[in-house]
Amino acid sequence: MRPDSGSLLPESAAPAAGATSPVPPVIRVALDTPADDCFDYLAIADVAPGELVVVPFGRRSMVGVAVEFAQASDVPVDKLRPVAQRLDWLPPLQQDWIELAAFAARYYQRRLGEVMLPALPPALREAESWSSLAQRARTDEYRVLPGQAEALLAAVPPRARSVRALAQALAERAATGEPLSLAQARALCAAAPSRLAEWLAAGWVEVSRTARTLLPTDPSQPPSAAPPLHDEQRAAVQAIADAEGFAPFLLHGVTGSGKTEVYLHAMQAVLARDPRAQVLMLVPEINLTPQLQSRIAARFPQLPLAVLHSGLADQERSLQWLAAHRGEARIVLGTRMAVMASLPALALIVVDEEHDTSYKQQEGLRYSARDLAVWRAKQRGIAVVLGSATPSMETWWRAGQGTYRKLVLRERAQVDAALPAVRLVDLNHERQRQRALFEGLSVPLLEAIDARLARGEQSLLFLNRRGYAPVIACDSCGWLSGCPRCSAYLVLHRPERRLRCHHCGLEAPVPHHCPDCGNVDIAPLGRGTQRIEEALAARFPQARIARIDADSTRRKGSAQAMFDEVHAGEVDILVGTQMVAKGHDFQRVTLVGIVHPDAAMFSHDFRAAEHLFASLMQVAGRAGRAGLPGEVLIQTRYPDTPALQALTRHDYDGFAASQLRERRQAGLPPFCFQVLVTAEHGQLERALQFLEAARRHAERCTLAPEVQLHDPVPMSMVRVFNRERAQMLVEASARPVLQRFVAEWVQTFAEVGTEVKGVRWQLEIDPLRI
Ligand code: ADP
Ligand code: ZN
Ligand code: ZN
Repeated sequence: MRPDSGSLLPESAAPAAGATSPVPPVIRVALDTPADDCFDYLAIADVAPGELVVVPFGRRSMVGVAVEFAQASDVPVDKLRPVAQRLDWLPPLQQDWIELAAFAARYYQRRLGEVMLPALPPALREAESWSSLAQRARTDEYRVLPGQAEALLAAVPPRARSVRALAQALAERAATGEPLSLAQARALCAAAPSRLAEWLAAGWVEVSRTARTLLPTDPSQPPSAAPPLHDEQRAAVQAIADAEGFAPFLLHGVTGSGKTEVYLHAMQAVLARDPRAQVLMLVPEINLTPQLQSRIAARFPQLPLAVLHSGLADQERSLQWLAAHRGEARIVLGTRMAVMASLPALALIVVDEEHDTSYKQQEGLRYSARDLAVWRAKQRGIAVVLGSATPSMETWWRAGQGTYRKLVLRERAQVDAALPAVRLVDLNHERQRQRALFEGLSVPLLEAIDARLARGEQSLLFLNRRGYAPVIACDSCGWLSGCPRCSAYLVLHRPERRLRCHHCGLEAPVPHHCPDCGNVDIAPLGRGTQRIEEALAARFPQARIARIDADSTRRKGSAQAMFDEVHAGEVDILVGTQMVAKGHDFQRVTLVGIVHPDAAMFSHDFRAAEHLFASLMQVAGRAGRAGLPGEVLIQTRYPDTPALQALTRHDYDGFAASQLRERRQAGLPPFCFQVLVTAEHGQLERALQFLEAARRHAERCTLAPEVQLHDPVPMSMVRVFNRERAQMLVEASARPVLQRFVAEWVQTFAEVGTEVKGVRWQLEIDPLRI
């Protein structure tokens, strides 16, 4: 992806044929609807591009973004309706933000407003919440105008006690010139806002409106000490700090090698250079923000830090966004949504764990925050640092080609924190030795946990499957607890005594006997985190055990509380899903056990090995981060799997090289570019027909010979929530070709929809899961 030159909205510049001129000022407004990019309205006084406005749309009114003035309009002048309202106190969104949205809309084949509006915080998208937001975002201070105190007091009816108190308070302050804030006024008189508005109109008082500080800092606090950087860190910081213009970096460093320390130093250098400069740091998981937030705040106590993620309440998120938009926030830390934040003085972008699939939005606008971050850096001519222990193949390939500059941290940063020893526990071998598994846990793993308990160290068991058991089964007739709406099984949740579908949310009671044959011997098959937790409690009754997964952390704040307990050493054994795998700096964990990686090995997805390697390397990285030697045990029936073998050697480079070799031979990304079209309908046949029709239309497109259209096929999980799904993959060897083809092709989808009716379709650019 690269910033295109030329006009933002190509069709906007050309005056429409037959348009009458001169036209009164027309402004084009982006609205969140698939109907069009922009809609024309008569501009009201002062409205400017970049402002949020309310406009009539059909019978409704909608919030939109004023994008640009138009020379002329296709709509006859007498049909144009005026802008109804503008959010006058919000500084306009800047041109570069509008361009970012326009690029994302073009690249991901969406309408401009469908990108812009969802990128704004919820409270700004609703005109009803504008005034309450204004009250929190600015301070209004009132003063009596010179010589007007008497007129004001005379106008107050004698019996209106609170109004009189308000007027008197203003009059008393007239001598000193001290203002009365809106908050103080309200304390005196509940009706203060409307009274003050009247007095303002009457010319008795004046108001000064100042933006309120949204991110208070404490300048008296000393910054936390930074460890002296080791040589590789110093070289990396230097390279980033010295970069001029657009400079994409890959910071490749094993877990615990001090990447975060490099980010912090690079930020410091960039922020020190320009008192306005802003830094954006993206992290893949909401749960990682508190830990990093306190680390950043401690290091830069004098710099306002804003946080952006979906876990914040609407008003709070809006205020954080506003702090970034106004330039008050110098550092913005957030999850993928933050890549679309308005940052007028953006000077550096950091994408931590760049390989993480959470950077890809999986619904609505299916964007990649990492890719948009690189585009944004290019557009602004600044440095972007992609950090990872296991870079994505796309990023690794570009770094190999020299498109991205590679910075490497080879060793763990802390003195005597070596990389953990990774051992495979061959379950076939265990069986030969006639050592039974205890609830899926092998003897070597149990002994290793025992040793940690004896030494007062922590163990972490990783299993990427929540619930008690993934399915329950009948021994006598073979019945399985399938979901009636999905091609998936209902998962047993034992503590809650429920069966749940993790795809459609269906819940059912746990049956007492087989619904098909009445047999009472129905049993859970396989294991989830709840079952492992139960087994551990039975085997190690003295241990303090915690389970962290989506079920145990449903209550707001509970995940943080549990992580705090782990950090405080109040937990001996931690069991968890990928929630525990990422980024956490557990200082006391010396054993990581990977209970069951095998399921991931049989996926049809060509990225399965890459994702397996990355996720296991991440979890393994939780072991032995400080001083104490760490050990990682991976239980498997397939110890020869290349990804596992590479893990035992900590050999990312070798693994990546073999992956790239295979991908090149097979012509897979990064050696080709893909678009995935999915179609869903109550009947699979219809979904497939839709894709067939779309393929026929594709063949008439100009660039058809240069792209490859694969056969439509049912998706591997074909049914979800009573809808059957099919997909078709489209590939090309170059991105621009594919882009131009898709842009032409989507135009035909409306027609396809009339040929095969009732099908919902979706287009995903650069799909991650196929
Ligand atoms: P990563 O982000 O690569 O996982 P971190 O930056 O979190 O690594 O560093 C891991 C640990 O090592 C942290 O506790 C950090 O404070 C410490 N650390 C980082 N750099 C140094 C250094 N140069 N000297 C000593 N300790 C360091
Ligand atoms: Zn049965
Ligand atoms: Zn279901």
